[in-house]
Amino acid sequence: MRTARYGVGVRKRLDSIEKLRSKKYKCPQCRKLSMKRLYGGIWKCKRCGLEVADGAYSMTVKSLN
Ligand SMILES: [Zn+2]
Repeated sequence: MRTARYGVGVRKRLDSIEKLRSKKYKCPQCRKLSMKRLYGGIWKCKRCGLEVADGAYSMTVKSLN
C-alpha cells in the first residue's frame, strides 16, 4: 500500500532527525566534540566559542573562514 509505505518512511526519517538533534558534533576549529545546539540553526562550541549557523536539525559547516 502506497500510504502505509510512506508512513514508515516518515517515521524512519523522524527517528534519524531526533538522533541528529541529540548527537554531539565535532567543532571544525578545535576538533573537540563540544558543539552544542543553541537555538534555531545556531551551534556553538563550548570550548573555543566558535559559532556556526546551519539548518535546524543537523550541522554542516559550509565555510570556515
Ligand atoms: Zn571549538
